[in-house]
Amino acid sequence: MVRAAVADALDPGVPLAQFQRVGAGVRLTCRDCLFHADLPLEVVITRLEARGVGGAHTGIVELAGLVRGSCAHCGGRRFVTAPAFHNRAASA
Ligand SMILES: [Zn+2]
Repeated sequence: MVRAAVADALDPGVPLAQFQRVGAGVRLTCRDCLFHADLPLEVVITRLEARGVGGAHTGIVELAGLVRGSCAHCGGRRFVTAPAFHNRAASA
C-alpha cells in the first residue's frame, strides 16, 4: 500500500525524551566507515533546539537526517542514529 510505505519512510522513531528518561545517550554511526561516537542526549537536544530544527520531541530515526558535521574518521556526512546505553550496572 502506498500510504503505508509513505508512513514508514516518515517514521521519526521513538522521541529522544524517552531515552533521556532512562539515561541513554545517542550513538552516531557513520554509514561509510562505521566509525561511531556516543553523545550525551542533553547535548544533542540542546544543539537541535539552538538550531531550531528539533528538540526532545525529535525521533531517534528522524535525528539522523538532522545531524550536521562530518565523520571524524573518513569525513562522511551520512549517519545512522541509535540510542546508546551506558549505565547497565544500575540494574544491580
Ligand atoms: Zn566515516
